Amino acid sequence: MKIAVLAVQGAFLEHEKMLDRLGVDYLELRKKEDLKESYNGIILPGGESTVQGKLIRELGFYDILKEQIHSGMPVLATCAGLILLAEKAENDDRTHFATLPVTVKRNAYGRQLGSFYKEDIFEGIGKVPMTFIRAPYITNVKEDVSILARDKEFITAVSYGNQLAMSFHPELDEDTKIHQKFVKMVEKYITQKAS
Ligand code: GLN
Repeated sequence: MKIAVLAVQGAFLEHEKMLDRLGVDYLELRKKEDLKESYNGIILPGGESTVQGKLIRELGFYDILKEQIHSGMPVLATCAGLILLAEKAENDDRTHFATLPVTVKRNAYGRQLGSFYKEDIFEGIGKVPMTFIRAPYITNVKEDVSILARDKEFITAVSYGNQLAMSFHPELDEDTKIHQKFVKMVEKYITQKAS
């Protein structure tokens, strides 16, 4: 198994540390040739979605990654990564991969509550630490999207097929459960492809 970590901007090193802790091999996607490597899953880290969206286009990643996600390669997206996947942002005209049928609101918690920490339930896993940094939340989901976490009435984590996306940063805390869940999705994807 090998996971490709989008490493053009943002908190990609923290995801790599998580993968190290789980003993999972990875490579960084920094230039177009990196996408020729063989990998079975993708991590889209937090950061600034506008910058990341611009860079993935300029570097020639856009079509290849979109096709891989569209065809079912598992993807773990955190914070800005969620914005890259979302079909729509209610306060931004830009969309990026648009493979996840949800609407997000960028910087949804405003300035005062820009960053915060809590522990809360993640469906199927239990209580996990959740660090939010100028986070988006999800305001609308279409059919077949599973809601995995909420913050009051707002949706903070979802899955849809092999796309697992959340508005917080599991890579910034010690708990590895969400990354373990993603690794299991990748294992399943590899087995299904082989059969
Ligand atoms: N506010 C950022 C954006 O809109 C996301 C913040 C994050 O990834 N921590 O892209």
